[in-house]
Amino acid sequence: MNIKVVTKILDANDRIADTNRRKLKAAGIYTINLMGAPGAGKTSLLECVIGRLKSGLRIGVIEGDIAGTDDARRIALHGVPVVQINTGGACHLDANMIGSVLDSLPLAEIDVLIIENVGNLVCPAEFSLGEDMKIMVSSITEGHDKPCKYPLMFQKSSALILNKTDLLPYMNTDMGKFKADALSLNPKIKIFEVSCKTQDGVGEFCDWLSGLR
Ligand code: MG
Ligand code: ZN
Repeated sequence: MNIKVVTKILDANDRIADTNRRKLKAAGIYTINLMGAPGAGKTSLLECVIGRLKSGLRIGVIEGDIAGTDDARRIALHGVPVVQINTGGACHLDANMIGSVLDSLPLAEIDVLIIENVGNLVCPAEFSLGEDMKIMVSSITEGHDKPCKYPLMFQKSSALILNKTDLLPYMNTDMGKFKADALSLNPKIKIFEVSCKTQDGVGEFCDWLSGLR
């Protein structure tokens, strides 16, 4: 019985996600659902990407957080259109939330829309928003056991950004195991090792990102 209820919720979400997808496609927008744990560096990565790519690519952002406008303020400083969603407690964004804010963005002036999901390794992977691609940020300080413990997120992501590599000398994180476990869950996942702090590897990720469209 429980399974039936959950299925219906996800079906309803998928229908709204399809509506979002059609609307975004019609506007010529490529949409990315950016996921990861709290503190993984999702907003920091966004700031790096916007700083490097905004001269050649019109980027728009939707920020999802339970509360607060800190992230939207950080993004707005870079001069790109941004809207903040506060879920008021919900631990993930859903398609309906995205649909309700699309008209607040200048869609005709956006090439790539990046949606930063609520920091959470569980349900963001289950709710389609109408995106073209899911990308996951995982910081090396979270530990190499994350692929084994949260497989769905790794299975659904097209790219995995391993952030905070500048901290590797201070950590016992086994990068070989981290990457091997991610790849065994998802052989197609593209892995980038970056440090948003030192900018190491950020250029490589930006090159890949700008080649997607
Ligand atoms: Mg953030
Ligand atoms: Zn949730």
